[in-house]
Amino acid sequence: MPSGRWSGSRRVDLLPPGRHAKVRPLVFATYGDICHLRGLPGADTVDHVRPGDDHGLANLRPAHDEPCHRRKCAQEGVQARARARESIRRPTEPHSGLR
Ligand SMILES: [Zn+2]
Repeated sequence: MPSGRWSGSRRVDLLPPGRHAKVRPLVFATYGDICHLRGLPGADTVDHVRPGDDHGLANLRPAHDEPCHRRKCAQEGVQARARARESIRRPTEPHSGLR
């Protein structure tokens, strides 16, 4: 039986990593629906200002899923991939008959 002891409590704790879905409504409540990437209203997702594991309210801003967030993610992905490629530095060999 529910005791109702949580029903009146809407307190928000600092989130453990990976739980920023929970902070989403809070981000919109705090910053509105202005996309922080383009400054236009209608943001429908939450973006990390600094990519990484910081899911604190201070590191989250509203953004448009398309195209802003997607583009930002793509750029971050390209940078990460470029770094990875540099660190691997493996010459790509064309198919040389061995299979
Ligand atoms: Zn946007």
